[in-house]
Amino acid sequence: MTTDNLFAQLGVAEPILRALAAEQYTQPTPIQTQAIPALLEGRDLLGIAQTGTGKTAAFGIPLLQKLSIGHVPPQPRHAKALILAPTRELAVQIEQSLRTYGRHLNLKMAVILGGVSQHSQVQTMLKGVDILVATPGRLLDLVQQKHIRLDAVTNFIVDEADRMLDMGFIRDVRKIVAHLPKQRQSMLFSATMPDDVVKLVGDMLKEPLRIEVAPQGRTADRIDQRLFFVPTLQKRQLLSELLKDEAMNRVIVFTRTKHGANKVQEHLGRTGVVAEAIHGNKSQNARQRALDQFRTGKARVLVATDIAARGIDIDDISHVVNFELPNEPESYVHRIGRTARAGGAGIAISFCDSSERAYLRDIERLIRNKIEPVAHDLPELTDAQKAQPEEARRFHGHKGRGGKPGGHKKPGGHSNGVGANGAPGGEAQKKRNGSRPHWHRKRDAA
Ligand code: AMP
Repeated sequence: MTTDNLFAQLGVAEPILRALAAEQYTQPTPIQTQAIPALLEGRDLLGIAQTGTGKTAAFGIPLLQKLSIGHVPPQPRHAKALILAPTRELAVQIEQSLRTYGRHLNLKMAVILGGVSQHSQVQTMLKGVDILVATPGRLLDLVQQKHIRLDAVTNFIVDEADRMLDMGFIRDVRKIVAHLPKQRQSMLFSATMPDDVVKLVGDMLKEPLRIEVAPQGRTADRIDQRLFFVPTLQKRQLLSELLKDEAMNRVIVFTRTKHGANKVQEHLGRTGVVAEAIHGNKSQNARQRALDQFRTGKARVLVATDIAARGIDIDDISHVVNFELPNEPESYVHRIGRTARAGGAGIAISFCDSSERAYLRDIERLIRNKIEPVAHDLPELTDAQKAQPEEARRFHGHKGRGGKPGGHKKPGGHSNGVGANGAPGGEAQKKRNGSRPHWHRKRDAA
């Protein structure tokens, strides 16, 4: 049976089959097999799936097909389909994928995101588009300014709803839903189902088909997970040692803070490893440039924070390194899912210092597996050195923490502003002044 036949059996039309064949999609992924026929029939969908499962094509292919049948040009300022994504990178990526699958169709697409001037976005929307991919904040802004109208949206998709929640966008999403016509086809994708997402599903979807492809918390079996117990002070050295292995040719290194990401990137630069950093403090252009350098192989390492890396879809990542363990165990699953994409294998290496043991326990509970530690052969720390990272981790002279070490229920979390080297990372610390809503503070962390 040929590739085309497998997708054709799901009801996919010829111009899209051609595009998929060119991408060498030899067979539909499980979520595609289940979602495509149902979406072509017009059903609503709840997809419990993370990136790497092929979910973009699962919703993108039927969307493109439905919009292209009996196509009429969009009205000025209107969009016929709206896709919401939590991060700028993911929005750009979704649009790129849709352009790829829809390259033989004549549909107009646009991306609306924050962090760049709105002028060209307003210009693009003057003539209207078939598909609009957007981050919630800027979209709402332009809707309120009446540059964009949403009352002709027939297809609505929320991607990575749980991340929307984490980033404090759920209220914006709800406000956007209020601008949409009641009569529409809707889809929501989320890797996990926290209560607020369940509520949103209830309000947004009508008798949805529920597809769960990667049960919550189960990490891809194909990923070889390794763990090093290593003092904070030696993490950089260990990273450099590991990078002597040429097999580590396309590596994402995760840190908890923006400050930490910069520090690791600087360290790698000093040791002759070409590395880019991507985090929320970088301009949209700088982030895109860093991603391009990495995607094209000009940079061997991409150092990233969780939120900035969310949804990044780059093939052939050889290794993911958790330079610092995430304080939310779900992030571990997302991070390591950057490797072993679309059926490939991959290696995830985690560094765990003494302050991160609690995070490790949370992760192992979530993935229902113990990660076996691997020994490293770095020299033993001297007594003086041993004392040092703990010292650096503690905050001195910071009033108002009520004497609680770290000031947070778990030790070593991003909230204590600790940088990659164990030194206080001023940036995250400065912003935690208690006067801002928690979702903004959370966003600052990446
Ligand atoms: P996603 O989960 O949408 O982020 O997709 C993950 C990756 O799988 C992307 O690189 C897609 O290009 C790729 N992909 C999606 N569907 C298929 C397929 N049927 N065959 C091969 N690769 C695919």
